[in-house]
Amino acid sequence: MTNNPISLPIIQKLIGFDTTSRESNLELIDYVQQYLAEFGIDTRLVHDEEGRKANLYATVGPTDRAGICLSGHTDVVPVDGQAWDSDPFEAMVKDGKIFGRGSADMKSFIAIALAFVPQLLDRGLKTPLHFAFSYDEEVGHLGAKRLVEVMREMPVKPAMCIVGEPTSLGVIIGHKGKKKVRVHVHGHEAHSSLTHEGVNAIEYAARLITFMQELARKWQKEGPFDEDCDVPFTTMQVGLISGGTAPNIVPKSCSFNMEIRHLPAVDPEVLFDEIRRHARDVIEPEMKSVAPDAGFEFEETPPNLALDTDPDEPVVAFVKRLAGQNKHGKVGFGTEAGLFQKRVGIPTVVCGPGDIAQAHKPNEFITLDQVRKGEEFMARLADYVCTETL
Ligand SMILES: [Zn+2]
Repeated sequence: MTNNPISLPIIQKLIGFDTTSRESNLELIDYVQQYLAEFGIDTRLVHDEEGRKANLYATVGPTDRAGICLSGHTDVVPVDGQAWDSDPFEAMVKDGKIFGRGSADMKSFIAIALAFVPQLLDRGLKTPLHFAFSYDEEVGHLGAKRLVEVMREMPVKPAMCIVGEPTSLGVIIGHKGKKKVRVHVHGHEAHSSLTHEGVNAIEYAARLITFMQELARKWQKEGPFDEDCDVPFTTMQVGLISGGTAPNIVPKSCSFNMEIRHLPAVDPEVLFDEIRRHARDVIEPEMKSVAPDAGFEFEETPPNLALDTDPDEPVVAFVKRLAGQNKHGKVGFGTEAGLFQKRVGIPTVVCGPGDIAQAHKPNEFITLDQVRKGEEFMARLADYVCTETL
């Protein structure tokens, strides 16, 4: 091959680190940190609680003013049980494609950003670029959730953010958010011949689940709707349930997991509040009339935030120009973009090379053509940051 993309060696290097979310990402982070240090760039690491993983934040160019943040996650989904034709953690270039876990989702974007560092510094930046590389995106955005708390306190915050998830360089301004709750139903145990003396936790769980199902059907029929989303209404489901000890015992406990995948403009707390109120005001009084300590307990996990960027935000037109696009859209998959937008207040879009259809699959790949288009995107961004101030 005559004109390989300049980022190819770094793409190969990054794919070579097995950063499956359950593993540490520190070897990759260490590599990036050393690479940047060679150019005199300081990095800030934000570790997880055990110090096994880290987010990396770095600024290329002047540190006294707001710049443009390029964000990507360093972790990848597992290859367990997938039939790969090559080693998933050794990049293979074949037929105009780079095969390897993370090639599309989303190590190529990170590699392209890194590959441009030498020429950015040679030319000199008037507007800084900030790199925000996270861990554990694939398992609940855990890394970025810690990173944004640090970014909130930074004296100089990025003025805009581009999350380089694979959109084939489409400019994405919105996606759904997800709220997950584990519901514990506390009942009262009794012999199964004495049902009136017990509080059947499974049956009361079913009552609440039925209410949720009716609510979800109402959202599907009556909206609100967002026709830019592929599933244009908010959905909800129960995906896991367990309870009871024996067929002849009135069960004292039952737990289930529910999730709400809500439209960008919908507040999931308002929706969830309706469920909580129904449990408290309609179902619980009946339970407590038999056993005062019976009732519902809601264990909420930090939500995956929706992205809901106003199409009139300057970042939208700016990134369209970089990507050579004249339209924007919304996607069905979630990203860390909502965290930057909602927790730090940075106008954010999702735009990166590669196709989400190849993500998470065996023989994941990115085409060399997409990598080149990603480099063209970066070259236009480099022209901007080396000549203009925000
Ligand atoms: Zn991803």
